[in-house]
Amino acid sequence: MSLMTKEKPYNTLNAFYRNKFGKKVFKISLNGDFTCPNKDGKSGYGGCIYCSELGSGDFAGNKKLPLKDQFAQIKTLMLNKWNDGLYIAYFQANTNTYDEVGRLRYLYETALSLDDKIIGLSIGTRCDALNDEIYDLLSEFNEKTYLQIELGLQSINEETSDFINRSHTLKCFDDAVEELRRRNIEVVVHIINGFHLESKEDMLDTVRHLNKLDIQGIKIHLLHIMKNTKLGNMYLKDPFKILTLEEYADITAAQIEILNPSIIIHRLTGDAPRESLIAPLWSLKKFVVMNEIDKLLRGRNSRQGINYTK
Ligand code: SF4
Repeated sequence: MSLMTKEKPYNTLNAFYRNKFGKKVFKISLNGDFTCPNKDGKSGYGGCIYCSELGSGDFAGNKKLPLKDQFAQIKTLMLNKWNDGLYIAYFQANTNTYDEVGRLRYLYETALSLDDKIIGLSIGTRCDALNDEIYDLLSEFNEKTYLQIELGLQSINEETSDFINRSHTLKCFDDAVEELRRRNIEVVVHIINGFHLESKEDMLDTVRHLNKLDIQGIKIHLLHIMKNTKLGNMYLKDPFKILTLEEYADITAAQIEILNPSIIIHRLTGDAPRESLIAPLWSLKKFVVMNEIDKLLRGRNSRQGINYTK
């Protein structure tokens, strides 16, 4: 079923949740105090060059607090704005399947039991932090709740992968998607636009690759250059080309046009804490970014998948 409208000519997450659950659904970021195989040496050291100290979970809960206290804090803020929503517990920071199965089960179960309005789990991870035992655990949760696994890819470009120190292959990612789908688990993929090594065509190629896989959702991020990251230090020392707002909107609109029309778009840009962002500063005006993309699509009477080819 298409969720597209004249105003939003692509499948938005909001419309998807409303259609599926009949209400607005909020993702509540919890912090399970995980680390990452790309930091502790299992796959790499030092992490991805753009990764913040908080493991790219800058809006996640405070890892020092128990999950129930993290949830209570965020829920209070939510209730001020919206008191009739449902929640998905979102394990966002670092790699949230990277631990013993016993601890993973405990954390996921605890998260689901925090409130009767929590209707599912969203778990952010990497392909190198999944194995048969963990797939089985995820499969078990997929049977009893609504489950999304968010997998980081960022780009299919090998040069980019080396530059960002991603430390896993494209094959590892593709295999993980296949294993998850074999168990009927929803897969949401993160990609990043704006690596200076990449042309517009390279960024479109990443979406073309995803079209070949069986994925259910996509998060399109803008590359944020943040303070206290390797990328940030690199940029401050020797600034490189970053995307303008117009370029980002143009690339992202073109990606939407080639994207499989059945995929749900969870994000069209990213959030960065104002105080840590070095560039691009135009990204702080998130609604302006989204409007630019929508305007381009509406202006040419276009929509998600209009240029999709199998
Ligand atoms: S995979 Fe995520 S948490 Fe790990 S280093 Fe990269 S950005 Fe950071």
